[in-house]
Amino acid sequence: AAIVKKLFMQGKIVTVNHEIDYETAEEIALEFNCIAEPEEKVDVIAELLKEDEEDESKMVPRPPVVCVMGHVDHGKTSLLDAIRHTHVIAKEAGGITQHIGAYMVTINGQKITFLDTPGHEAFTAMRMRGANSTDIAILVVAADDGVMPQTIEAINHAKAAGIEIIVAINKIDKPSANIERVKQELSEYELIPEDWGGSTICVPVSAHTGEGIDTLLEMILLTAEVNELKANPNRKARGLVIEAQLDKGKGPVATVLVQKGTLHVGDPIAAGSCFGKVRAMIDDKGRRVKEAGPSVPVEILGLSDVPNAGEIFVQTDSEKEARSFADTFISENKERLLEETRSKMSLDDLFSQIQAGNLKELNIIVKADVQGSVEAVKQSLLKLSNDEVVVKIIHGGVGAINESDVTLAATSNAIIIGFNVRPDSTAKATAEREGVDLRLYRVIYDAIADVEAAMKGMLDPIY
Ligand code: GDP
Repeated sequence: AAIVKKLFMQGKIVTVNHEIDYETAEEIALEFNCIAEPEEKVDVIAELLKEDEEDESKMVPRPPVVCVMGHVDHGKTSLLDAIRHTHVIAKEAGGITQHIGAYMVTINGQKITFLDTPGHEAFTAMRMRGANSTDIAILVVAADDGVMPQTIEAINHAKAAGIEIIVAINKIDKPSANIERVKQELSEYELIPEDWGGSTICVPVSAHTGEGIDTLLEMILLTAEVNELKANPNRKARGLVIEAQLDKGKGPVATVLVQKGTLHVGDPIAAGSCFGKVRAMIDDKGRRVKEAGPSVPVEILGLSDVPNAGEIFVQTDSEKEARSFADTFISENKERLLEETRSKMSLDDLFSQIQAGNLKELNIIVKADVQGSVEAVKQSLLKLSNDEVVVKIIHGGVGAINESDVTLAATSNAIIIGFNVRPDSTAKATAEREGVDLRLYRVIYDAIADVEAAMKGMLDPIY
């Protein structure tokens, strides 16, 4: 009331519910012999995305995190099941496997973490939130079917994310299996098998008979070793939400993958707009555990709400801090999303970005009705590269523009060019939501002319 009265005397008609600006607040505070200080706003998002400096001496090797990608029906689920059965149930007696979205296997005394959702959708959803979940992608290619459209999609998603690819040539038990043909097809996508003088590890396997699976696991460990995957287990935990749901009895249940530090029961944490204290942790074998270190997936109970898959979680000093993290996340996330949508690549602002020196590479995805057109558009677009910008075709394929194309464009800041094809309804909705520039053409020449004009800053504005 005293403040309202003071303001009133100054001619400012306010009520207790009014917000006043900082300068006014500062002046009023002075009248009450107080020095006002602006509240320091923590930039939660920056804090979350920050890859904090790590002391090299505190880093220790951690298990690799692996996902399985490939064309539908090539055996991704079967392979994940086969690995789980031979290496989790038999070798770790007493455990009942739980589906928590990820599992760990032990081979030769070393561990590997598998993300249990096959396909690149889950993986790309995480990347869209700015988080990389995976170290190595297992590309499953059926030996009787060879490289198919989703195989190519998977290759390009993995390449765009910069992760290692190991090829599992599956179904070698089938009489129609043709391993050499698969290798031939892979080499057309810059995956040259080692025995062909390249550097791509290809392991023939059968999810049905189990043949080759141990070799595949050994190759994963070898790749992990070469890449020197490390993390500091003795710091506050942070990682990713892999999946989450509301359980009738337990409340919000989230599977998290710890990426750094160690998470303990009792730790306060924030995950996106959710916060809480870890009440209990359950591992992939259904056992209650007290702590989880780097690369370990655990199901946690105790969050206030169900977080989104792909959200980053952080351990905080107190529950209060966790709550304020979550609050700020809610208020800032909206703004950030808007900003991101605005800053997505579009042909219209291509020239200004080139001029500002913000853009060195123009990423393009080409979809067309026939392979011949894909190649023709690709070749012509590549020729548009100049001293300032290199045109890169990060993915090309036959068929309608699908959601996978759009998510790849969104995470790689690419534009999509469709030639005699249309986006399907989910792709269209996702493109609108993510602000992906999607252009459809009937004549190859028009597509090339538009990109060329955009690069020169001469694109006619669209009204
Ligand atoms: P996903 O769509 O990639 O997850 O493929 P699935 O794991 O569902 O497998 C598709 C089909 O291929 C199923 O009928 C499997 O039984 C079969 N399959 C998977 N792996 C093998 C294998 O190694 N050998 C044979 N013969 N069939 C397999």
